[in-house]
Amino acid sequence: MEQKPLYITTTLPYVNADPHIGFALEAVQADIIARYHRLAGREVFFNTGTDEHGQKIFQKAAETGQDVQAYVDHYAAQFRKLKEGLNLSNDVFIRTTDTGHIAAAQELWQRCVANIGLDGPDIYKKKYKGLYCVGDEMFLKETDLVSGRCPNHPNMQPVEIEEENYFFRLSRYQSYLHDYLSNSSVILPEWRREEALKFVDGGLEDFSISRETARMSWGIPVPGDTTQVMYVWFDALTNYISTLGWPTTDGNFEKFWNNGEVVQMAGKDQVRFQSIMWQAMLKSGGIKATDTVVYHGFITSGGQKMSKSLGNVIEPLAIANEYGIDALRYFLARHIHPFEDSDFTMERFKELYNANLANGLGNLVRRVITLARNNGVELEKDERDSFDEIVRGNDQIYHAFIRNLEGYKISDALDMIFGRDVPHTAIGWMDNSITQNKPFELVKTDLKAGQKAIWWLMKDLWSVATLLDPIMPDASIKIREAIVENKTDIPMLFPRKE
Ligand SMILES: [Zn+2]
Repeated sequence: MEQKPLYITTTLPYVNADPHIGFALEAVQADIIARYHRLAGREVFFNTGTDEHGQKIFQKAAETGQDVQAYVDHYAAQFRKLKEGLNLSNDVFIRTTDTGHIAAAQELWQRCVANIGLDGPDIYKKKYKGLYCVGDEMFLKETDLVSGRCPNHPNMQPVEIEEENYFFRLSRYQSYLHDYLSNSSVILPEWRREEALKFVDGGLEDFSISRETARMSWGIPVPGDTTQVMYVWFDALTNYISTLGWPTTDGNFEKFWNNGEVVQMAGKDQVRFQSIMWQAMLKSGGIKATDTVVYHGFITSGGQKMSKSLGNVIEPLAIANEYGIDALRYFLARHIHPFEDSDFTMERFKELYNANLANGLGNLVRRVITLARNNGVELEKDERDSFDEIVRGNDQIYHAFIRNLEGYKISDALDMIFGRDVPHTAIGWMDNSITQNKPFELVKTDLKAGQKAIWWLMKDLWSVATLLDPIMPDASIKIREAIVENKTDIPMLFPRKE
């Protein structure tokens, strides 16, 4: 059966700080899924990029005496480096300051203006008075306040502001969103879908989608109104379609959005934005809904939120630099839960690195290839199966590995490869097999039988390395090269860290 092309995207990080570990997690998860589907023969379009407008950015640039365009260019370059720094296979890198993106955001806006229901157009202007948090660039609801302050900014006094803004008529989409969210595949994990459904069923309010140019100058102009610029929603969310060339519909947009499977990855605090507001905006603009949004949890450090003042900030690129990109990818994929909150400390990282990569995988590779080299065993070209041949040829792997990856349960898929339950294609199983069958002794008494046992280890190691391709692409290549070359020195994979 011919599979639909896959479109997968991260959210766009806001460029007022360097890349943090939470975004590294999201990018690596998306990359693993993208790589897996490519290996399984599917056409994939993987999108990421940067969200670059807003008053916070404008102010930060001003504070540091920089031109705002130069400021966003600097940060966009930092995020673009993640492609190399985390070995991401993204096909594009969209910036919300790109000309094509700006035109697309304005076009979506106009389509929503032109979509007129019983109460009027989906975008309308109204006077609004309320408490405004400058830190969030948002009006606060009475119910949001904690001791009269914004919960995110307890040190800032909210200011009362009256202004005229454009609103999006979300209230019109309540029954549409209820139906959309009733489909169990639109959100993973399931409990987040229930959360979204409950939110929608509690009643939806129209939301503000613009700011006065006088208060927020760094943004996309509202079409036909020079006094207003777009607030984040129409600006940032539209990237998911502008990156595919929308409103042009004959190229990638037609292929990957209209005729493909659309998957968005996001953090757990994004449910209202990605699965509710964005889906209503798409519907209003006459565009197909997202097929699935996958929400990951947050990463804490030592049980606490990371902060510079606590000194517990985990820097993804620094770790990749010290331990290797694949070591970081491995940890994020296996020891950070794909959906729930998880803790990340350097102590735990180092312990699991030494146990599972230095002593586990790295040690196994050296043992097996040394055995093969010392006993004249080689894995011939036609004995080296492809990714597809390996997964389709073994029922247990097919179920444990493929089903887990297709359900975004990345850590479960890795538990299988690093475990001892599945015969042959599991690192723990292979270690056990060497200990029990002692091929290094067998060769002394029965060379043929010993060589055969070592050949099986080479073949199993090849399978393990091949299955690791979407998760640890560089280690996967190095191990397979070592198997092919056999006689050359084994590269130092995952050296032990003291
Ligand atoms: Zn705030």
